[in-house]
Amino acid sequence: MRVLVTAGPTREFIDPVRFLSNPSTGRMGFAIARAARAAGHDVTLVAGPVALRTPNGVRRIDVISARDMLAAVERERFDCFIATAAVADWRPARMSGRKLKKREMSGVLKLTRNPDILKAVSSRLRKRTGEVSPVLVGFAAETGDPTAEAVRKCREKKLDFVVANDVTAADSGFGTLTNRVSFVWPDGIVERLPSMSKAAVARRIVRAIGALRRGFPPAIGPSPRANKHGSDPATKGKTK
Ligand code: C5P
Repeated sequence: MRVLVTAGPTREFIDPVRFLSNPSTGRMGFAIARAARAAGHDVTLVAGPVALRTPNGVRRIDVISARDMLAAVERERFDCFIATAAVADWRPARMSGRKLKKREMSGVLKLTRNPDILKAVSSRLRKRTGEVSPVLVGFAAETGDPTAEAVRKCREKKLDFVVANDVTAADSGFGTLTNRVSFVWPDGIVERLPSMSKAAVARRIVRAIGALRRGFPPAIGPSPRANKHGSDPATKGKTK
């Protein structure tokens, strides 16, 4: 599969020396790119500003802002898109080309909405008929229980599944080496995974995508789900 991953934060500049951003380090997205490559996929990683080494064999495109990230994503062809990036939802309504003086700033910053990259990709691809639709995976980072919001996002953005995590938990979220996530499916089923390394979470995600692509329900969580295709022979009988 051609796998496209977005990772890290975006920066939205106010002037050449100030920007809006968030604490994403890119670790989860880079771990997914590494795991997808290890599984034999052809991987492109669109990364916001992060201090991480490119995984071996992965093609990397560096971007700064949400609009750069959208442009980079729209140039790619893929069978699977995993939107791990913590894209800034807003940017300053205008960016000054020179450093603003303190006295020129009023304390009120006018903002404008950034494009939703995943939504844009989904609305373009989900409209097509007569061909296999790419697998689309989103992330939901919330404070508190993220699952209700994740189900809503999964349906609204027409995703195959959403990986939800509580970014306030000590062992989960921004900058941690581990993550405690739930896989949330459009039918509302939530599969809670224990705390594990981001590399292990990444392998689960890649495995779930492979199973989806083969037309089988990803057998993760305590009870493998059955769909019209029956259960996945590769994982039949296993409880993970
Ligand atoms: O709606 P929310 O921002 O919480 O959705 C999170 C998901 O959407 C993540 O997968 C994130 O990478 C993606 N996203 C995006 N572009 C945005 C905002 C979020 O691709 N502007």
